[in-house]
Amino acid sequence: MVSTHRKHPEDPTLGMLRGAMCRRSSVPDGGPGPRHVTAIRRPDEADLARITADKTVLIDRLLDVVEHEIVPLTRAGVREGNKIFGGAVLRKSDLSTVVVVTNRESVNPLDHGEIATINAFYEIPLGERPRAAETIFLSTHEPCPLCLGGLTWGGWDNFFYLFSYEDTKDAFSIPHDIRLNEEIWRVKDGEYDHKNRYWCAWHIPALIEACDPAVRGDFVRCAAGLAATYAELSAIYQASKGSGAEIPLA
Ligand SMILES: [Zn+2]
Repeated sequence: MVSTHRKHPEDPTLGMLRGAMCRRSSVPDGGPGPRHVTAIRRPDEADLARITADKTVLIDRLLDVVEHEIVPLTRAGVREGNKIFGGAVLRKSDLSTVVVVTNRESVNPLDHGEIATINAFYEIPLGERPRAAETIFLSTHEPCPLCLGGLTWGGWDNFFYLFSYEDTKDAFSIPHDIRLNEEIWRVKDGEYDHKNRYWCAWHIPALIEACDPAVRGDFVRCAAGLAATYAELSAIYQASKGSGAEIPLA
């Protein structure tokens, strides 16, 4: 199953945390004062309305792009020793695909799904590609710190992801996202702000959970099917480790 994020917008504890507690305290563990208490800022319905006029159509399209456009590339990619992550850029205007890409870490350890997608997008000649601000960024998995930076520098004001850091660590046995955040920036559990001055980020299962019951069931089934597909792809990747591809953080 695709797990839902632990603190999605409907989580009542989030409201309690807002304003009542300070964010990301710099007080060392064990010291006086508040310790690592976070109130992650998350986008609301108005933020989503600036991206799409119809949330249901968008979710349907995002799931479809993962299943029919990203997965086939990733299925080939994992057989070459690459990770299971992929990305796509869609036009906000009609949700048509601009680029769709999969991870290429066997070639270059920085070629994460998102970075490879950003590079492919900017390889389209100026004048032939839309501006990043006119597009939607889709990532199969929650972007790592490298890719969060890449999306920011690349000019996107949004991204959507299907699997969370927790999924990546627990279901797909790749723990580096959460570990990097904690080791380098002292950000526990990868809890960065999902709404900031640069972009808004949406966890697709949280969006599905907030959908009308008339469509929610189909979306949940589709997401569960994708979770099974990615479990299969993950098994291929995990079995390939150590067989030639040089990926420092495999
Ligand atoms: Zn990344």
